[in-house]
Amino acid sequence: MLIMKFGGTSVGKPERLKKIAELVLRVPGKKIVVLSALSGTTNTLVKIGDFLLAGKKSEAEAEISQLEKHYIQYASELYTSPEYTAIGQDIVGRYFSLIRLLAAGSFDDRSYRELLAQGELSSTEFFYYHLRERKIDSRLLPALHFMSIDENQEPELEKIGERLKALLPSMSHLDILITQGYICRNHKNEIDNLKRGGSDYTASLIGAAIRAEEIQIWTDIDGMHNNDPRIVKKTLPIAELTFDEASELAYFGAKILHPSTIVPAQKYGVPVRLKNTMDEKAFGTLISDKGTSGQFKAIAAKDGIIAINIKSSRMLLAFGFLRRVFEVFEKYKTPIDMISTSEVAVSVTIDDDSHLSEIIGELENFGIIEVDKNQSIICVVGNKLAEKKGVLHDVFQSLADVSVRMVSYGGSHNNISILVDTAQKEKSLKLLNQGLFNLGE
Ligand code: ADP
Ligand code: ASP
Ligand code: MG
Repeated sequence: MLIMKFGGTSVGKPERLKKIAELVLRVPGKKIVVLSALSGTTNTLVKIGDFLLAGKKSEAEAEISQLEKHYIQYASELYTSPEYTAIGQDIVGRYFSLIRLLAAGSFDDRSYRELLAQGELSSTEFFYYHLRERKIDSRLLPALHFMSIDENQEPELEKIGERLKALLPSMSHLDILITQGYICRNHKNEIDNLKRGGSDYTASLIGAAIRAEEIQIWTDIDGMHNNDPRIVKKTLPIAELTFDEASELAYFGAKILHPSTIVPAQKYGVPVRLKNTMDEKAFGTLISDKGTSGQFKAIAAKDGIIAINIKSSRMLLAFGFLRRVFEVFEKYKTPIDMISTSEVAVSVTIDDDSHLSEIIGELENFGIIEVDKNQSIICVVGNKLAEKKGVLHDVFQSLADVSVRMVSYGGSHNNISILVDTAQKEKSLKLLNQGLFNLGE
């Protein structure tokens, strides 16, 4: 079984959705097709949800009507026969009635999550009926029947596998199954999601759960590039990456993959292939347990980082001190990304500020706390980087003109993390592109 995930831009226009159908048909064997919402939809649903939570009903209604117009147009271009044109308009009608129903009620967090789910629910239905119009056999496999997260928001991989194993046999005569990316049920059985960009994660979770042959992530670029193509002018695709390398890049901001995508695939050794919907012939990137080592592979950057410095002449380096510091973060379920220590101080970085004030309040028991917001982690990745002599020299020389706040190296064999003020991020990425890859700024 192959998992083929198509992102927002790949389904964003009717002609693209039709191309996907052709692409899927050309691939022999059985596949589960995972679709995102049409591009821009989830952003708009977030906007609508925010308006509704703020009690701004008329602003929400204006956004709903505009989105509805877009969907009516989309459906009218997707289907050709009168019968399916009517089906298309019926799909749009149903989804927008539901959205308006949600908007009219007492709108809360739960309704918000249900609202966000409508993007993937509608895109998969569009695709399913498009295949039907073309007389291609397929079946919708509802993600809400098998995809789930626990009370810590962690996907329940084993249960997902068990549910899929129960569902799939009745569909074994079909080559194409279609399911929604991103959406799931939580421990209260409510509709929830895997966070923004989560359709990649869905594909990987399914692939791992059923031990698929390969997980393919089809998007609008020819694979993982050596640097952020949105920021740096000249970047190049990387043909092969190890799971560890890809995992670090995804976690540290390479938007092409949801931060957790690689984890389930790596657990069961299922290769992940990144491919370009607009250029099928391009090789893309193959992510597996194989790969070259001892060279710089890519750079990514993660924004929204907060650095917390704890200065304590009394307690630092006394045994048990770091444990007590970490316990504070554990208590508030806030992961630490980087850490650096000196004789009198320890600095850590976090990206989740939901409990920042409580965390600072408790850390103040240990010493003087300084907080720097608007920081970015620049992550230089390469399998077994330490095998390459002078890696730190090359990185530091490239960044000679940048004020570096923190450095972390040696924690994993695959990365050097550098913390800079976000205002210096663009410059840092460009300097490293020239310094490490000779590709210009
Ligand atoms: P999809 O809608 O298919 O999920 P995304 O927009 O989430 O697509 O991810 C693809 C985008 O990720 C690319 O268009 C590119 O701008 C961005 N991106 C950021 N960093 C990288 C990188 N290192 N390599 C490739 N793409 C990247
Ligand atoms: N539609 C969701 C989002 O925009 C999930 C995804 O595209 O992966 O975040
Ligand atoms: Mg994405």
